[in-house]
Amino acid sequence: MKLIAASVIVFLIIAAYPSFQYQRMLVGAPALETRVSGAQVANGETLLLEIIQADTVALGHIAVGIGDTTALRLYPHPAEEDDALFAMLGIDYYARPYEDTLRVMWTEDDIFYERAIPFAVVSGTYPSTRITGVPQSRVTPSAADYRRIARERRQIGAAYISVRDSLLMDGPFRMPTEKVTITGEYGSRRVFNGQLRSVHSGLDMRAYAGTPLYAAQSGRVKLAKNLFYSGNHVLIEHGMGIYSSYSHMSKLEVKTGEWVEEGQLMGLSGATGRVTAAHLHWTVNVNGVRVSPLQFYDVLATLYRTEDSSQHFE
Ligand SMILES: [Zn+2]
Repeated sequence: MKLIAASVIVFLIIAAYPSFQYQRMLVGAPALETRVSGAQVANGETLLLEIIQADTVALGHIAVGIGDTTALRLYPHPAEEDDALFAMLGIDYYARPYEDTLRVMWTEDDIFYERAIPFAVVSGTYPSTRITGVPQSRVTPSAADYRRIARERRQIGAAYISVRDSLLMDGPFRMPTEKVTITGEYGSRRVFNGQLRSVHSGLDMRAYAGTPLYAAQSGRVKLAKNLFYSGNHVLIEHGMGIYSSYSHMSKLEVKTGEWVEEGQLMGLSGATGRVTAAHLHWTVNVNGVRVSPLQFYDVLATLYRTEDSSQHFE
């Protein structure tokens, strides 16, 4: 016999970035508690769903859908016991505001339950910046450079393909530099030398030439090489579709295919690639979507029950 749990009205409190507030929804069967990191998530941010089981529910019987179509992958929760699960949803920077519903479905004593968790994607507030002094050869690449850029795009695309289905890391992110000073925000719209427009896909941190750069977490190095735009670049796969990358280094200290530990030295900062000065360009990808590294840092802090990124700033 199958019953569908009655739909409910849930009053949701808007969670203010960067501090997360949980919405606890204890409706439906009491065996399962669901938490989302916020009723609203901005474009470029990551939504976290946690499923905490009060009683034993067969793992294979839990599924999460978005609306009527997409299924969200569930993974074992690293900080909760009793078969708790979590899922992450990265929202594309170019996503327009929309409303959708996470549908958590499970069976208990052969009864089918469904809990609807509405969420809204809202417009993030991202600044605009003008950048001058970039070498013209990097703004308007030559024909040979275009061939190189196309070749590197394929290599980068391939590096992002082999998604490992388990978590390769065992803790929250650490900051890739010892001292953290943000010099370029994720999501800012940039105008290079008044002509080339792009959206900043990562977070820039002050890192004078030769500053040691460390792996945010453990994982497998998928790419460690010199790229036209990114300069000396390291891409780390952390498992479950999570990647972090580090660009513009003067020196690489790891090789493609190598396993790295959290905090391991990956190289020294520099000004290689399309840059005006030495710094670290740090990116984070979640399931193919390039998201805000700082907000993702806070999502992981929530998942691992540790401190959010604000502890690094005065
Ligand atoms: Zn950057």
